[in-house]
Amino acid sequence: MCCSHQLSEKDLQPITAQAGWQENIKGMRFFDPHVHMTARTTDDYQAMADAGVVAIIEPAFWLGQPRTGVDTFRDYYASLVGWERFRSSQFGIKHYCTIGLNSKEANNEKLAEQVMEILPLFIYKEGVVGIGEIGFDDQTALEEKYYRAQLELAKEANLPVQIHTPHRDKKKGTQRSMDIAIEHGLDPAMVIVDHNNEETVKEVLDRGFWAAFTIYPFTKMGNERMVEVVKQYGSKGIMINSAADWGISDPLAVPKTAALMKAHNISIQDIELVTYQNAITAFAQSGQIDVADFDAVKNIDQSLDYNGSRVLRGGQQPRIAKDSIFIR
Ligand SMILES: [Zn+2]
Repeated sequence: MCCSHQLSEKDLQPITAQAGWQENIKGMRFFDPHVHMTARTTDDYQAMADAGVVAIIEPAFWLGQPRTGVDTFRDYYASLVGWERFRSSQFGIKHYCTIGLNSKEANNEKLAEQVMEILPLFIYKEGVVGIGEIGFDDQTALEEKYYRAQLELAKEANLPVQIHTPHRDKKKGTQRSMDIAIEHGLDPAMVIVDHNNEETVKEVLDRGFWAAFTIYPFTKMGNERMVEVVKQYGSKGIMINSAADWGISDPLAVPKTAALMKAHNISIQDIELVTYQNAITAFAQSGQIDVADFDAVKNIDQSLDYNGSRVLRGGQQPRIAKDSIFIR
């Protein structure tokens, strides 16, 4: 039994070594157009900022368990345009959001009706870059009803749509989502179809929609597969996101995938398009994205507060050195 083992310099290496892949992408900037920061920590924000993430979009989504009243929706939407945006700014990251009724909770018709009523109070607010994430989960009649209603809302507000495609029966669900969007007269260039895979990408691109890919461990795409997709289809119309949320997910999925693409000799121009520019081009159609704001938000002052709340707790020092093993 070892009881007096002293940690050597070598033992500590795997804990502290962060360099590696980050060296590959030094100086690059990234835009993650789908990440649920409400479910993440300040460490995640710091790590994203350190890896070059300059701006993000947080889609309104399901919180893991069903909400029981319209007021919790109202408070959630208010937090996306309020507190969470402030929290993000404290790490120098420009925060946008999309607002919508997610597919799972569209199945509670009574509540869905109430949510539809409050959506117009939020979708015109500053920094709201689309209606999302909406679409199909189990592909029920109620999901279709509220998907259609929200497409109409997007049209009326002239906002892009961020579509969540189902895990089960993905190909059919993706096709149906696009068919219905066309039926409602939406321009495919205003529609971002999310959670694509090898099975769906060709048709989505061929029909003129944006094809977003979620790099999410186990259930969606791994980033080695993503490298192959870009090798095959190029960078036009494609964007990558982390969709990091309360599940096992990775808020560094975008920069890590960029590093992997670079290691596979994909051109810098293509990497920039799929990890930064395409998402900006698509969502800037909302009229809400000005890239000059990405720099403006860098003037971080963590001692600021938001309605009396701060990211710092009493006595804490702003920012910490992440590479250090010491926590002080
Ligand atoms: Zn999501």
